[in-house]
Amino acid sequence: NKVLEFNDVWKTYKMGTENIQALRGINLTVNKGSFIAIMGPSGSGKSTLLHLAGILDTPSKGTVLLNGKNIKEYKGNEQAELRRKNIGFIFQRYNLMPQLTALENVMLPMISQDSGKAKKLLDKVGLSDKYDRYQTQLSGGEQQRVAIARALANDPSILLADEPTGELDTVNTRKIMGLLKDLNQEKGLTIIIVTHNPLAAEFVEEVIKMQDGDILDLGW
Ligand code: ADP
Ligand code: ADP
Repeated sequence: NKVLEFNDVWKTYKMGTENIQALRGINLTVNKGSFIAIMGPSGSGKSTLLHLAGILDTPSKGTVLLNGKNIKEYKGNEQAELRRKNIGFIFQRYNLMPQLTALENVMLPMISQDSGKAKKLLDKVGLSDKYDRYQTQLSGGEQQRVAIARALANDPSILLADEPTGELDTVNTRKIMGLLKDLNQEKGLTIIIVTHNPLAAEFVEEVIKMQDGDILDLGW
């Protein structure tokens, strides 16, 4: 039932002779079906935590377990494989390929190319009439919908989002967060977002606050 587990996780970045302690002993368990927002000031370690959750980096000390297995036990190429199969990423600036259509963007990461499935995913995010649109022909909210469909392409066990509403107005923030909430509730998808936006945070089940590389005691 535990998708992700952080046990006394430290992350130190070396900058010349200086050591920057980005994470200082994080303990965190994320159960299947959780919907979590990580909040906190700039520099508090949110992105670092998200990078470790997404196996984009490994801890300096302590362990990160994904589906019960220590990510350090995987070699570099196995980590990439694990990431591709288990993690869906969405980004503040959507990161779509401009030369590809919406449908092609969704198919891009697929382990087995399946245009029928890609269409279903686009239907799911409300873009059934826009399969063939290019990025420049889509609004910001629509681009983020394509990015969400793409993130779901390989049925990930966890969806990670770094400021998913950072470029969106209030109306689209509500729409995108509502969509994530539906995915969480209907499919039991585990979702972690990093956000500064209190409106976005209203949609999640649990807010985790970070400060100086640590998680503050939950205030509720
Ligand atoms: P947040 O996402 O909350 O803004 P980060 O996780 O990006 O925080 O950063 C935490 C700390 O680690 C900050 O002091 C930041 O400057 C530092 N940091 C982050 N990434 C790196 C890096 N690749 N190299 C050196 N320092 C980094
Ligand atoms: P942002 O959230 O602004 O898009 P990042 O998440 O990449 O940027 O970085 C957050 C913080 O970590 C910033 O303060 C940035 O200066 C610092 N940081 C990121 N990467 C590095 C790096 N390679 N070296 C030093 N500091 C870094």
